[in-house]
Amino acid sequence: MTEPISLTRSHVRHELRQRRLNVAAVRQVTSRIVRITLTGELDGFAAEGPTDHLKVFFPDPATGRIATPGFHAGGLGLSAPGTVISRDYTPADHRPGELDLDMVLHGDAGPASAWASRAAVGDPLVVAGPKTSKLVPDGLTALVLVADESAFPAAARWLRLAPPAVPVTLLLDAPGAPDDATRYFDGVTGAQRATIRAGLELESELRAMPIDAGTVAFLAGEATMLVPLRRYLRRELGLPPQQVIASGYWRRGVAGLDHHAPIDADDPD
Ligand SMILES: Cc1cc2nc3c(=O)[nH]c(=O)nc-3n(C[C@H](O)[C@H](O)[C@H](O)COP(=O)(O)OP(=O)(O)OC[C@H]3O[C@@H](n4cnc5c(N)ncnc54)[C@H](O)[C@@H]3O)c2cc1C
Repeated sequence: MTEPISLTRSHVRHELRQRRLNVAAVRQVTSRIVRITLTGELDGFAAEGPTDHLKVFFPDPATGRIATPGFHAGGLGLSAPGTVISRDYTPADHRPGELDLDMVLHGDAGPASAWASRAAVGDPLVVAGPKTSKLVPDGLTALVLVADESAFPAAARWLRLAPPAVPVTLLLDAPGAPDDATRYFDGVTGAQRATIRAGLELESELRAMPIDAGTVAFLAGEATMLVPLRRYLRRELGLPPQQVIASGYWRRGVAGLDHHAPIDADDPD
């Protein structure tokens, strides 16, 4: 009899601090994703998990000031008054003294996207986190990643952090040409062992895929688009929660979505 696979994810906790940073470089990575490289108070910065994320605090366009909340126990060094404007972003990559955020430019409706589209060297930002790194699951034998552009940085983290022997299928959902989306993964460590496809119908692709007891599926992007994919995996295939990591990164028509809210109100985990 084969042993059940636990797929446990260890957690590493980090000191929660607000870090004052400045833009050091801006580079277009795909037609809709801009890479913002930040420098500044990055001493001790750590991000070890594939789904790590940061709270990013943006300047109030009316005042140009970045307001941040006061934090209680575990204490943060900085608290500034005004309207707090914050969104979640993935640490796309980091090196000593440098942090990259890869931000989707989806227009001026959102303060984060509006900021990113005008970002210039020297502009200030404040980031806090990651609070916790949830590591790649132990026992993982295969990885299926489904990501829209907002989750390309998270997919790249999975590629870098999953053991090299683990096969990966990566399905990309992006509005432009497939080549524009796959270009994001050029040069990403670990991408060589992955099958990367874009511009396909996600649900039929997922349904055609073999999924065994050691396969983990990570689904992230627009919350509504994830619902049928998650239902297929959780309800039809009956996979346990540790095999299906689904996270709504944004929801069409909703500003500042709380990603802790279930993506499927009829079937929360
Ligand atoms: C854990 C986590 C990690 C994330 N990592 C990243 C990341 O690395 N890079 C990244 O770009 N995003 C990432 N996101 C998504 C990002 O937080 C949201 O897209 C956020 O809404 C952007 O803020 P905004 O101010 O631009 O728009 P909001 O003010 O939040 O929304 C304004 C309008 O824009 C729409 N909208 C929001 N995001 C998008 C989008 N991506 N495409 C089209 N329309 C959109 C909303 O539906 C709303 O109608 C992440 C989210 C989470 C929860």
